[in-house]
Amino acid sequence: MSFESLNLIPELLRAVAEQGYKEPTPIQAQAIPAILRRRDIMGCAQTGTGKTAGFTLPLLQLLAPQANTSLSPARHPIRALILTPTRELAAQVEESVRIYGKFLSLRTTVVYGGIDITPQMKALHGGVEILVATPGRLLDHLHQRSVNLSRVEILVLDEADRMLDMGFLPDIKRILAVLPAQRQNLLFSATFSDEIRRLASQLLRQPTMIEVARRNATADLVTHQVYEVPATRKRALLGYLIRTRNIPQALVFVRMKRDANRLARELVRDGISATAIHSDRTQAEREQALSDFKQGRAPVLVATDIAARGLDIVELPYVINYELPYTPEDYLHRIGRTARAGLPGEAISLMSPDENRLLAEIEKLLKRTLPRVTAPEFDRGGGKPRPTYERDRHERSERHEKREKRSAPKLVEPRNSGAREIDFSKPYEPSPSTATKPEITHPLRRQPSRPAAALLGGASTHAKSHK
Ligand code: AMP
Repeated sequence: MSFESLNLIPELLRAVAEQGYKEPTPIQAQAIPAILRRRDIMGCAQTGTGKTAGFTLPLLQLLAPQANTSLSPARHPIRALILTPTRELAAQVEESVRIYGKFLSLRTTVVYGGIDITPQMKALHGGVEILVATPGRLLDHLHQRSVNLSRVEILVLDEADRMLDMGFLPDIKRILAVLPAQRQNLLFSATFSDEIRRLASQLLRQPTMIEVARRNATADLVTHQVYEVPATRKRALLGYLIRTRNIPQALVFVRMKRDANRLARELVRDGISATAIHSDRTQAEREQALSDFKQGRAPVLVATDIAARGLDIVELPYVINYELPYTPEDYLHRIGRTARAGLPGEAISLMSPDENRLLAEIEKLLKRTLPRVTAPEFDRGGGKPRPTYERDRHERSERHEKREKRSAPKLVEPRNSGAREIDFSKPYEPSPSTATKPEITHPLRRQPSRPAAALLGGASTHAKSHK
């Protein structure tokens, strides 16, 4: 099937061709015709399936007749509202709208919390046809009367399950209350919980159901490996894997925000450049972390499920589950970050004995047993300091020395690596000299064998006019 056969207008076909897309993904093939017929949609699809283009392309096509270059804000009412759970996803979706709408005179902007509201108010004041927003910040704008939603024709709830998980239902209801009753509704969710079904039944009129295979659950492209390791040895094993496998770039998952910060700090101490992303960090810090990861300054990004959800990380080779998630669906979301665009990816899980039950649930969902890998050096535990780590470090510095001798330019020894001071038998105590944001170059990191992952998205808050 081709994009042409979906009856997309030439402006969109051109934008799609510029992106190098050869044919629609399954969700696009199903969603585009249905949305163009002005049907409501209930889409069960994860990020990574091409769902953003699946709703953005037809949305742009439906609005195209109203595209205009008038300078009058009155000629640019908000006609489409896209709600997303996180700022990162909002920024990425807005970027997609901008990319696919490049040859149309439709304006778009994005509003989300954590940053100054004033530039967003200005952008809205100038008039935009497509608004991408997180629910909380959109409510702020409604309270400030800086946004008028009375002309919305299309509503998209992207990653609706995550919005409910994050407690956005009351906010969503408040927003729905100010929208015109007559509108097209598109709801996308990775899971179909009872809560989602309830929301769908209130929101959607005779929806077209679209379900695409969980791309990464079924894809052979992801190699799963489970290391059985005591919790106290996970960090040493993680460092060992990163070094010995020459992992160029990895997204490492933990469950709690505080653990994301802590692990990133500890890895930096161990000489591995790492940074963290989670919802307690400021927008500037999150953007810095993504940029460090994207640019390869921090090849390890430690993330919580919520913060990483929806991130479009192109060609990310490794996802590492430092801790297994409490809900098996989150395992799918996590591994959905790798093996994208037809490239292989690896999902490595470090499982401590208390996580056996969580793995069983994941395997039940995947309908398969995941291969266990043994790492005998790491299966001794009990919270004791690990003498072999010293050996690792010794080997590392030996290899470092050899490398230094034979290669120029000279490699940089991490500042504040602090490995010598670490006492594994004690809880971690932050050192004032250890910055969360890494400024060091990992001396052992080889040149990535694959291109570094590129994170799409930015944090534009300005209205963009596409001509
Ligand atoms: P999404 O699920 O919307 O986050 O999209 C995942 C990735 O797939 C993004 O990097 C898109 O640029 C890419 N993509 C979307 N549609 C296509 C397509 N038809 N062919 C190839 N890549 C695509």
